[in-house]
Amino acid sequence: MRFTEFNFSPLLLEGIEASNYETATPIQEQVIPPIMEGRDIIASAQTGTGKTAAFLLPVMNHLLSHHVDGQVGALIIVPTRELAIQIAQHIEGLSYFTHLSSIAIYGGSDAQNFVAEKKALQMGADIIVCTPGRMIAHLNMGYVNMKQLRFLILDEADRMLDMGFQDDINRIIKALPEKRQNLLFSATMPAKIRQLARNLLHNPVEVNIAISKPPEKIVQKAFVVHEPQKMPLLQKLLRETPYKNALVFCSRKQTVKEVRRELKRAGFNIEEIHSDLEQAQRESVLGAFASGRIPLLVATDILSRGIDIDTIDLVINYDVPGDGEDYVHRIGRTARAEAEGAAYTLVGDKEQNKFHQIEQLLEKTVEKGEIPDELGPAPAYNPRTRHHHGGNRDNRGGKPKKKFYGKRPGGSR
Ligand code: AMP
Repeated sequence: MRFTEFNFSPLLLEGIEASNYETATPIQEQVIPPIMEGRDIIASAQTGTGKTAAFLLPVMNHLLSHHVDGQVGALIIVPTRELAIQIAQHIEGLSYFTHLSSIAIYGGSDAQNFVAEKKALQMGADIIVCTPGRMIAHLNMGYVNMKQLRFLILDEADRMLDMGFQDDINRIIKALPEKRQNLLFSATMPAKIRQLARNLLHNPVEVNIAISKPPEKIVQKAFVVHEPQKMPLLQKLLRETPYKNALVFCSRKQTVKEVRRELKRAGFNIEEIHSDLEQAQRESVLGAFASGRIPLLVATDILSRGIDIDTIDLVINYDVPGDGEDYVHRIGRTARAEAEGAAYTLVGDKEQNKFHQIEQLLEKTVEKGEIPDELGPAPAYNPRTRHHHGGNRDNRGGKPKKKFYGKRPGGSR
């Protein structure tokens, strides 16, 4: 379906054209028409599907003809600053030829930003993108006026609940008018998202794009190693795999720092990104990475969702991510849009069971890569599989499944 068929304002079509979008992606095709009809939406769609434009375009199109001075038209709540910044950039691109105003409101930035945010909130903005905590800070000051709000959008709702933002979201919703259109996007649909949807949405149109499986075009491989073999193998993979932008993921920031130090010592042009960095530092590192000045980045899971740099063609998991969803989100950073990509996972001795669980979730056996002879003998892949014992435990020695983002208690190294 071509964008010209949606009946969008010509000014918006110009922005779409300037962004080089020609045909709508499946999620766009499915959600744009019902949003334009005024329906609530619950959509499961991962990043990379075009979901951001899927909600931005119909919202912008509406606000173009229903702009109210001094008011907020749409509020987009997202889990992380990075995603807020990215969506703000998306808005800027698509609304370039329009008069729509927008602002991103997120934590971690300095007092000067707070003043600018406050001003925007007092003067009104067509679209606000915010992280929950920062929005609460402004709400507490009493000057936020969202009485005319037309759209509430929750993006990556599952991640927001995982990060404990449920109460903040409820508080923000209390400040909104009852009559509004609600759009809920989530990569996964666990029970708590269903519950949130029941409380929030009115007779929603349900759209399911999420495969919650990585795109087929990503070449996935796992390398089963002893822990001390990880660093030499990582270096070898980075030397022998051609890439434009490569992203190395570690679950703990301590590991991120160690890996960066080792790779730097080995002569790689590399930067790191994790929650210890100031906001400005994070932005500058991401900018250098996106522009190709720094081709290699090592990061915690802070980056595993939402970040949209379409030249990433290699992702290496230095350790096995917490669960299948984290795995999908990490490796989903590569092979964006039309690009090809590879995703390699280093599986240490203690991580075999965890990796096997991921394979079960994905319903796929990931190809195991050869370990070069020079690294010495590698272990066999021999995870403990699930056994059924006539109603007894069915997961021998399996730890309870827990979700962590970037902060893993205990050590992987
Ligand atoms: P998202 O899933 O929203 O993170 O979008 C993934 C990438 O696809 C972004 O770089 C978008 O700019 C791009 N994109 C979104 N919609 C389209 C489209 N219809 N045609 C081409 N690229 C698109």
